[in-house]
Amino acid sequence: MEKRHQDIREAVAQVCSQYPGEYWREKDREQQYPSEFVKALTEAGFLSCLIPEQYGGSGLGISEAAAVMEEIQAAGCNGGACHAQMYIMGTVLRHGSEEQKQSLLPGISSGQLRLQAFGVTEPTSGTDTSRIRTTAIKEGEKYRINGQKVWTSRIAHSDFMLLLARTAPREAGEKPHHGMSVFLIDIRQAEGNGLTIKPLRAMINHAATEVFFDDLMIPATSLVGEEGRGFRYILDGMNAERILIAAECIGDGRWFIEKAVNYANERKVFNRPIGMNQGIQFPIARSFAELQAAALMVECASDIFDSGQDCGAEANMAKLLAADASWKAGDMCLQTHGGFGFAEEYDVERKFRETRLYQIAPISTNLILSYIAEHVLGLPRSF
Ligand SMILES: Cc1cc2nc3c(=O)[nH]c(=O)nc-3n(C[C@H](O)[C@H](O)[C@H](O)COP(=O)(O)OP(=O)(O)OC[C@H]3O[C@@H](n4cnc5c(N)ncnc54)[C@H](O)[C@@H]3O)c2cc1C
Repeated sequence: MEKRHQDIREAVAQVCSQYPGEYWREKDREQQYPSEFVKALTEAGFLSCLIPEQYGGSGLGISEAAAVMEEIQAAGCNGGACHAQMYIMGTVLRHGSEEQKQSLLPGISSGQLRLQAFGVTEPTSGTDTSRIRTTAIKEGEKYRINGQKVWTSRIAHSDFMLLLARTAPREAGEKPHHGMSVFLIDIRQAEGNGLTIKPLRAMINHAATEVFFDDLMIPATSLVGEEGRGFRYILDGMNAERILIAAECIGDGRWFIEKAVNYANERKVFNRPIGMNQGIQFPIARSFAELQAAALMVECASDIFDSGQDCGAEANMAKLLAADASWKAGDMCLQTHGGFGFAEEYDVERKFRETRLYQIAPISTNLILSYIAEHVLGLPRSF
């Protein structure tokens, strides 16, 4: 199957070739942010590809952005360090004021500013977003923020964050999702003045943190769009996120399959390559077929997104199928490598851990299945 956007893919692969396995192993071991890699991608303009030209970006579609993310993962790198820089700005672009766009988007395009942190999940509410407890109370020309977020990735490497907070109690609205609002917070001003960031060590190197808000005062102009409509704004950005993460999974799957094929051809057991055994060949072949099918779904979702139509069903299915295909490919790759799959120096165990995330975040597999059951197939709502 011929890949689209070959020129973009080659340019991304060129940058990624400077960041081999040793680089990622060391970052992973020390749980360090891959600053050099992110800087190189930024300078090459890849992370601003979705920003319209009038704000300094290259104004490309999600299909091109997906090609960027896929190639990063296929090269063995970890786009989780910076993928959000591509799509979080979409909320500001779609719903922000012209002043917010002018103050932010050109800076993101030039690489001077980072908006790659997104605070939705809280210790007591992940899947059920309507139960978030972080509040933003209007006081004159300011909002007072109190509460806590968890798993806020990359905030220590961002200048701005998007925050979802309650501006009205859950019970006050017609629906549980009413009464939440989105704020654009300048981390540089907020940190130490009511905003505290604590690193959270995790199974993968994802710059994860816990974030505490204690009477943080922010200007009222930080509100994005209208008060109370924040959940709708967040939902609007989710299709882009799902498509890009799905593309990352396709890249991971390609990496696992290539790695497995190479090893199966080289490794000799009983005096012949293990790849001669159908017990080794078939899982690789099956993984390849499943990945190709998922890649078609990602292309389909991208095309619908880029045509401006609703792609909720396709974006969800692309994320589901691609995350499943990459996870199965990871398991197959580890099995193909036998004991050496566990050795750090092969990078398989690292990629295996990294791709596992996409069964859980940014949305878990169960919730996608619920979406398909309810919204596509018309089955009763289960929660
Ligand atoms: C490395 C990492 C990075 C992350 N980065 C961010 C970030 O930058 N910003 C952010 O806001 N969040 C982030 N998250 C959080 C992530 O989005 C949540 O973990 C995810 O939404 C699931 O929420 P939860 O962990 O609270 O699980 P819970 O909501 O507690 O769910 C636990 C399990 O129960 C299942 N479940 C719950 N309800 C149902 C149901 N009705 N039917 C079937 N199954 C159900 C879920 O699918 C899940 O498997 C990150 C998480 C990780 C691990």
